[in-house]
Amino acid sequence: MELSTVLVLIAAGWAVCLASPIPVNPDSGSDTKPDNRTVFERIEALNKDISTPLQDGDIAYPIGRSTMKCNSCLWDISQNGMVYVPYVISSAYSNIDKWLITDAIKEFETMTCVKFVSRTSEADYLSIESLPGCWSYVSKIGGKQVVTLDKAGCMNYGAIQHELMHTLGFIHEHSRSDRNNYVDILWQNIPPVNQPNFAIRDSNNLDLPYDYGSILHYPSTAFSNPPGRTTILPKPDPTVPIGQTSGMSHLDVMKINKLYKCNLCRTKLTNSSGSFSTDGLSFGQDSSCRWLIETPNQKISLQLGGINIPLSVGCTESYIKVYDGPITYGESFIKDNGVVISPWVRNFYPDNADAVYSIIAPRGYKVSLTFSYFNMEDSVNCSKDYLIVTDGAATIAPALGKFCGFNLPPALVSSGNVMLLQFHSDDQNNSYGFMASYRFVAP
Ligand SMILES: [Zn+2]
Repeated sequence: MELSTVLVLIAAGWAVCLASPIPVNPDSGSDTKPDNRTVFERIEALNKDISTPLQDGDIAYPIGRSTMKCNSCLWDISQNGMVYVPYVISSAYSNIDKWLITDAIKEFETMTCVKFVSRTSEADYLSIESLPGCWSYVSKIGGKQVVTLDKAGCMNYGAIQHELMHTLGFIHEHSRSDRNNYVDILWQNIPPVNQPNFAIRDSNNLDLPYDYGSILHYPSTAFSNPPGRTTILPKPDPTVPIGQTSGMSHLDVMKINKLYKCNLCRTKLTNSSGSFSTDGLSFGQDSSCRWLIETPNQKISLQLGGINIPLSVGCTESYIKVYDGPITYGESFIKDNGVVISPWVRNFYPDNADAVYSIIAPRGYKVSLTFSYFNMEDSVNCSKDYLIVTDGAATIAPALGKFCGFNLPPALVSSGNVMLLQFHSDDQNNSYGFMASYRFVAP
């Protein structure tokens, strides 16, 4: 098999799938200010003044027995090889917050055998709550286990994944037992009260390389005083980036899969260019390989070459499937009180996208729609990208409004029991899209 050029996928049969959601979203609600802080800088700032006793900046006690060396502290591996982690989520979160949390959770399912599932009656479970700060316990502690994701500052893709990785049993990367081979700690820039955050732990490193790019790695100036001084210096190359802004690294994915004995073929690609193939890979317990390509604020160009896959009718047996962010556009909503989000995940919506969302209330009710975020290409008469909201079930029903630009549209109410949202983007100048909440109102 040959491969060449930038970003080439070569498959020799069997199921191959590639997904490319991309980072940096406008955070919860309508706050669109860019925030270039690393994930842990956000966490550190948020946890600065909270009263909960924490170790290492965002880890609740007990930590002593943790650090991946305690098998009974891991979540159970089921007979089918999956690891189900039950969770409940506080009703204090808005629908949009909940969507952001489940969006960050989804990647665990895509890339590992860990699946966060709604709790039914399991004794051990995570309770995701919006208490002050951004923190969690390390590994499973038994019973109800709080993970705090403050809706006022922790609704960030990477921060959510950081805390959830703690719950799976992982400590901060710079705390691992062999870290002195890879980083120097500049103690003189760390006030004594914060020095314990840089302690070395007796960790199980899973025979995986030190991961400068881990979502669990502190940034280079963590806990410095005065602020901005270097506290962690990679070696031998001090310019290696540490402390990232997006989400799990490839090694983070591997760590989870190794710790939980997942037999999966998964690769996360975060470099700006590269090539890959199925050469040397064995398809795992789900008979597939997946590559997830993630790059901040850029589009991804993929060129397939050298494909050698046995033909099957409708490509039902062996195939390559390429996903561009959200897999399907459009949805029907029939339950009261929900959220409609345009086709973007954590990046600009795609070119030439059309999505139709229908909101269907019981007969006799009306649909009330309130926008919480709106950011679409602006144009005269909204002739380029737009959202049309119609008062009825058909796309030709009377319009309640056609919207583009950056101002929140007004609240809208249907006259009947159905409201339709038609989203359209043309082939240039994309933006983030919209979020809106709806509810059914009695006549
Ligand atoms: Zn942490």
